[in-house]
Amino acid sequence: MSADVTTGPADVTTAADLTATAEATGDAVAAVARPGEPGYDAATAVFNLAAPPRPAAAVVARTVEDVRAAIRLADAEGLSLRVHTTGHSAPAARPMRDALLIRTEMDGGVEVDPIRRVARIPAGTRWGVVAKAAAPYGLAVAHGSSPTVGVVGYLLGGGLSFYGRKVGLAANSVRAVELVTADGELRRVSLGSDPDLFWALRGGGGGFGVVTAIEVKLFPAVQVVTGTTCWPAAHAPELLRTWRRWTLDAPPEATTSVRVLNLPKIPDVPPMLSAGPILCVDGAVLAETGDDVAAARRYAEELLGPLRAVAEPVLDTWQLTEPVDLLDTHMDPSDPVAVIGDHMLLGDLGDEGIDALLRVVGEGSGSPLISAGLRQLGGAYAKPHPQGGALDHLDAPYAYSGGGVPGLTGTAEAITRHIATVREALAPWDTGWTTPTFVESHAQPQRHLTDGRIAAADLIRHRVDPAGRFRDDIMPGATKPG
Ligand SMILES: Cc1cc2nc3c(=O)[nH]c(=O)nc-3n(C[C@H](O)[C@H](O)[C@H](O)COP(=O)(O)OP(=O)(O)OC[C@H]3O[C@@H](n4cnc5c(N)ncnc54)[C@H](O)[C@@H]3O)c2cc1C
Repeated sequence: MSADVTTGPADVTTAADLTATAEATGDAVAAVARPGEPGYDAATAVFNLAAPPRPAAAVVARTVEDVRAAIRLADAEGLSLRVHTTGHSAPAARPMRDALLIRTEMDGGVEVDPIRRVARIPAGTRWGVVAKAAAPYGLAVAHGSSPTVGVVGYLLGGGLSFYGRKVGLAANSVRAVELVTADGELRRVSLGSDPDLFWALRGGGGGFGVVTAIEVKLFPAVQVVTGTTCWPAAHAPELLRTWRRWTLDAPPEATTSVRVLNLPKIPDVPPMLSAGPILCVDGAVLAETGDDVAAARRYAEELLGPLRAVAEPVLDTWQLTEPVDLLDTHMDPSDPVAVIGDHMLLGDLGDEGIDALLRVVGEGSGSPLISAGLRQLGGAYAKPHPQGGALDHLDAPYAYSGGGVPGLTGTAEAITRHIATVREALAPWDTGWTTPTFVESHAQPQRHLTDGRIAAADLIRHRVDPAGRFRDDIMPGATKPG
C-alpha cells in the first residue's frame, strides 16, 4: 500500500535553522508564538470558552510549509503536537501541557466540481462557507447545525447533520484527506492510495497528523422543509411523547431534534422565547429533486400536524425553502461562548424515559441547562457504509446533549452538578456509547469504537507517528492506554 506522498525539506533542529531554511528557500513560515507574544491569542482562540487552551507555543498555519516548520520546532523542543481549527470542542480536547498547538487556517477557497459532485475544502473552512459554495449547483453537504463549525474536526469525528437519516454520518462522504504526518510528509490519503489510513482518519479518534484539506462528496438537494417550532414547556410531556412516536417509523428524508431551552432574557432573544422554558422541534426534510418536493411537504406535515394540535406554538417557522436556510434553523450561538455540557447515545426511551428526562430538564425541574434534548438518529445513521471508516454508523435511536452557560443559566458548579443529575436519571437508557463530535468534555465517559477498532487504529497511528508526537491529540477512549 502506498500513499501519494510529497516529501518535505531536510530535517532541521532549531528555531534558528528553521529561519535560515525559510530564508534560503524564500518561503516565509508563520511565526510560532509563546504565551504573551503577538499571535499567541489568535492561535489559541476557541469557540467554546469553557476550556481555553494554554499550550507552551502556538501558531496559525496557512500553508503546508507552516505546518512542517511547526512540526520541526516541536521536534526540536520536545513538545507534543496538538491541532485545532475553531475550538468548538475545546473542552473535549485533553489539557495541553508542553504542547505546540497548530491552528489550521489554510490558504485557498472551497473548490466545487459539480460534475463529480465533489468539493475540496482547505482546513480552517467553516461549514457555512461550504454549504453556500455548493448551493448554486443544486448540491448540498452533510454540514452540522451551525455555520461556524469547522469542517475538519466535524468530519474526523463522524458528523451529525440534519440530512443524516438520509445520507448517514458525514464522515462517510469524505473522498480524500490531505494531511502532513509527523515526519513532515504531505499525503493525499484516499481509498485508492492508503485504505488503512483512510479508514482510521474517518472516526478513528485523531492523532494521525495535521489535516490541510479534505474532499467530500456532495449530494443533490433542490429544496428542504426546515424550521423551528416552540411551545411553552408545560406542554412538553405530550409533545415529546408525540415526537417520539413519530420517530419510530419516520421517513429517512426527515432528521430532527427536540430540545428544552431555557433562554436568557437578553435583547437578542425575543421575549416569547425567554418567558420560561420552551420545548422546540427543529430539523429538515430533504427534497433531492423536484419530484420529491410534494413528499417532503407531506412528511413535514405528518410530523408537525399532530404536534401543532397539542397546543398553540409560540414560534413556528417551518417552511419549504432553499437548503442554505438550514444553516439558521437550529438557532446556534454565532459568537464564542462558554458551555459546560454532556452527551450520551440513548436507547429507545419509551414514555418512561421521556418522563425521566423531563423530570430533570423540564418545567419545574430548576434545570440550569440552557439546552437539553435529543437528536433523532436511525435511518442511514444506523447503516454501516460499505467503504466506511472506523466510525461509519451509530447504533442508537437518539443522541442526548445538554449544557449550560456559566453566569447566564447558573454557576459552573450548579451546571456540573445538574449534568450528573441528568446522567443518573437517564442511566437506564444510556447505551454507554458516544459519538465524538457531541462529546462535551475530555473527562466525560466516552466510547465510540470497539476494542478491535481501537487496536486497528492504534496500529495505523504507530505506522504514521511511531514516536507518538500527536498522542495527546487522540480522543480519550479511542486508544489503548499506555
Ligand atoms: C454551536 C455548535 C453546533 C454544533 N453542531 C453540531 C452538529 O450539528 N453536528 C455535529 O456532529 N457536531 C456539532 N457540533 C460539534 C462539532 O462538530 C465539534 O465541536 C467539532 O469537533 C468541531 O470541529 P472543529 O474543527 O470546528 O473543532 P476544533 O475544536 O477546532 O477541533 C476538534 C478536534 O478536531 C481535530 N482537528 C481539528 N482540526 C484539525 C486539523 N486541521 N487536523 C487534524 N485534526 C484536526 C483535533 O483533534 C481537535 O481537537 C457543534 C458544536 C457547536 C459549538
